[in-house]
Amino acid sequence: MDFGAPPEPDVAGEALSHRAVLYMQNVQSVDDAVATVVHESSHVTQMARRIEVPHAPTQMNEYLAFRREALYSLGRRPSLAERLELMHKVRRLYPSLPSGGLKGH
Ligand SMILES: [Zn+2]
Repeated sequence: MDFGAPPEPDVAGEALSHRAVLYMQNVQSVDDAVATVVHESSHVTQMARRIEVPHAPTQMNEYLAFRREALYSLGRRPSLAERLELMHKVRRLYPSLPSGGLKGH
């Protein structure tokens, strides 16, 4: 947990090579904190498995992280429609990242 200023105004968390950082100034609730840790833990796992390059995530890396976050938030596996919405959300949030193979146009 980092109680200082986050690196960017809206960032609540960040995955470094072997740990996740939670920027507490941008965390609104305990649920938000846990969801952020779950999201960032996906990035850490992907980096450990060499599916994600540190500081160079793809849209697919973000999709996988949001999908893991949805498992926590929904308490179940997201439906096909919810997973498609996650793909669209990732494209909206990260238009400049390489796709990394993310489909669902
Ligand atoms: Zn992410």
